[in-house]
Amino acid sequence: MLVLLASLSGIFTSITNDWMSELLDFYRESLEILSPEEISRDYPIGQVSWLKAGGAADFLVQPESTEKLTLFLEFLRKNAFLGGEVTILGAMSNVLVRDGGVRGIVINLLKSLRWWKVDAAAAAITESIAFPAGLRCTAAFLNTQKYELSGMEFIAGIPGTIGGAVFMNAGAHGTEINDIIDWVDIVTFDGEIKRLWKKDLRMQYRNGNFGSNEIIVQAGFNLQKSEHMKVYTKGIRFLQERAEKFPSGGGIGTAGSTFKNPTGISKLAWQLIDEAGCRGMKLGNAMISEKHANFLVNLGGASARDLEDLGEKVRIRVFEKCGIMLEWEIVRIGTP
Ligand SMILES: Cc1cc2nc3c(=O)[nH]c(=O)nc-3n(C[C@H](O)[C@H](O)[C@H](O)COP(=O)(O)OP(=O)(O)OC[C@H]3O[C@@H](n4cnc5c(N)ncnc54)[C@H](O)[C@@H]3O)c2cc1C
Repeated sequence: MLVLLASLSGIFTSITNDWMSELLDFYRESLEILSPEEISRDYPIGQVSWLKAGGAADFLVQPESTEKLTLFLEFLRKNAFLGGEVTILGAMSNVLVRDGGVRGIVINLLKSLRWWKVDAAAAAITESIAFPAGLRCTAAFLNTQKYELSGMEFIAGIPGTIGGAVFMNAGAHGTEINDIIDWVDIVTFDGEIKRLWKKDLRMQYRNGNFGSNEIIVQAGFNLQKSEHMKVYTKGIRFLQERAEKFPSGGGIGTAGSTFKNPTGISKLAWQLIDEAGCRGMKLGNAMISEKHANFLVNLGGASARDLEDLGEKVRIRVFEKCGIMLEWEIVRIGTP
């Protein structure tokens, strides 16, 4: 038995050493493409996510330009580092990063893929506009009002990026990305660049149906010609409604709606959670918000484990009371 344990621990040490040296090689070689500001080791992504909980990423890569992103992807392909463990993130407003963190490389597009040129005359004639994946949803809305295009007011106040919103088929106030999408440009980890038209997309409720190796780089939207003030007023009204409805401020963490609304029944997720008596339920510093029962909040210092376990408790209680198993809308990533 002792011999077996000793040899197992030997294998484990050698795997760990191989892993570490591979990581270090990766880091050194990455610096030939990226500046030290664009790549960080052991970056606490959980703590900077909107839920403010969870562990670190082995590497966080934030390329400052699209060219750097392309070069870095090429570098990953050539070297096949880390067995392809690559995660793409936007503003991290819809993710729960588990306490053990995320292995491999997290690529965040907030610093690149956010500049673009709009041909205002063409936008007015075609009643369409394209936005890069790293642009924040509210900034996109503000631009549609600038170019007098209506249809994107519903994303005002959604804290994510265009890439995240398209990936999730985000929605609010009765409209979702699928209603206005025209096309999506993706880059695959194999280096393939593709334009997917609306007819090729199979978006579902809060699920854009993209593959895990597909990076959304930009998207085009079909809108309607309108007037500055009309677009602005509608968007601002939506923003105000959000502030009234959703928990915010006081340093709390949240990732928006925790569970998807179930299909086939008229009740919404928050109503089922209420019926099951879960509003205000707590586990450590994780809580089901008193203000909105479908919001899981971090009151400060909650572990990702507490947040996830509380969510699981709610699912079980709702199932026992209403016979419906809620599905997570928040994307859970990383190791426990
Ligand atoms: C206060 C609050 C209110 C919210 N309100 C709403 C709402 O009204 N409606 C709604 O739908 N959502 C809402 N959300 C959830 C969230 O903001 C949206 O889902 C948002 O679109 C996620 O974008 P993100 O950039 O933060 O994505 P992230 O959270 O970073 O990532 C979410 C998922 O998208 C993937 N992803 C992100 N970017 C890319 C990319 N470029 N290419 C490929 N994959 C990518 C990630 O891998 C991950 O699986 C809310 C969240 C908060 C905190």
